[in-house]
Amino acid sequence: MDIRVGFGYDVHKWSDDRPLILGGITIPHTMGLYGHSDADVLLHAITDALLGALALGDIGTHFPDTDPAYKGADSALLLAKAYELVGGGGFSLGNIDATIVMERPKLLPFIPAMRERIAVILAVELDQVSIKATTSERMGFIGREEGAAVMATVLIKKNS
Ligand code: MG
Repeated sequence: MDIRVGFGYDVHKWSDDRPLILGGITIPHTMGLYGHSDADVLLHAITDALLGALALGDIGTHFPDTDPAYKGADSALLLAKAYELVGGGGFSLGNIDATIVMERPKLLPFIPAMRERIAVILAVELDQVSIKATTSERMGFIGREEGAAVMATVLIKKNS
């Protein structure tokens, strides 16, 4: 098949004593996301989507959170490793479209920097990376600020 799609979903809980790292950049906020790695929920969802497009399992099988090697890991490295598998399979990125679901902070001012960072990690054009943000309208675990989630889709295409 010449084109394949992948979907990724990730959720992390908020923590009072962590920086907020999202899309490979640090965003000023009063709290951050908790996790074994740097808890970059956006990069995790995109990584999972790339692995899904290849039918190669998920981020947990490739980078287990029980492995001390990934404690505090820079999620950009995990994303880059997943994209190496895409290249290794003879594919390259068509596009990414991701939606961050987070009650606070307002993410709009940081979206350009996140897109640029992801485009650099993957060595793709900026217009191949779409990042959107919404809130959960104060409903549910996201609305109560217990956690935040990201959904991501990717399209990869066979190199000619
Ligand atoms: Mg995660």
